[in-house]
Amino acid sequence: MYKTKAYAAASATSPLAPAAISRRDPTEHDVQIEILFCGICHSDLHLVRGEWSELMPAVYPCVPGHEIVGRVAKVGSAVAKFKPGDLAAVGCMVDSDRTCPECLAGLEQFCPNMILTYNSPDKHLGGVTYGGYSGSIVVDERFVLRVPPNLNLAGAAPLLCAGITTYSPMRHWGVGKDKKVGVVGLGGLGHMAVKFAHALGAHVVVFTTSPNK
Ligand SMILES: [Zn+2]
Ligand SMILES: [Zn+2]
Repeated sequence: MYKTKAYAAASATSPLAPAAISRRDPTEHDVQIEILFCGICHSDLHLVRGEWSELMPAVYPCVPGHEIVGRVAKVGSAVAKFKPGDLAAVGCMVDSDRTCPECLAGLEQFCPNMILTYNSPDKHLGGVTYGGYSGSIVVDERFVLRVPPNLNLAGAAPLLCAGITTYSPMRHWGVGKDKKVGVVGLGGLGHMAVKFAHALGAHVVVFTTSPNK
């Protein structure tokens, strides 16, 4: 176990403040990542402010952040996908039960027992998981993604939630040159949707109440 710096909320009404949190030392399948950038997702704000208290009550202190990009600092003895120095990313989840039908089909994102990057039970250290508003994180390599070196790393971080949230349905519905895509609102997700849909060749229309957008 080691300590790393983080920004934590002590309650639903207190601002994020510097804190020290514990991370596990990497076990054989773990990747230890020095976090370089973390996007701010609106889910982070909802959770920390207690706005999802019925759906998912926040456990305080709460360290949010699930749009994580960084550099691998250490790897466990059985890790094959990563080596120290590699770029790596972590999104909304850091583990699953690995045994349900969804997991066995390679669809861990539908696992009913997924472990979210923050505010989920931490089976290693007890308490809850802490997210990317921190200096370092340790994640099983199965839930760590590669980052191509040609990407702007700060710009790449929001791909881990806002990006995949808009990319996934576009792939599902076969967005391409013969399709029209309407994007309602040009916000954190909407601007991603516009860029993806345009890059996929679709005719893109944005619905907004603000002429500036
Ligand atoms: Zn998010
Ligand atoms: Zn599962």
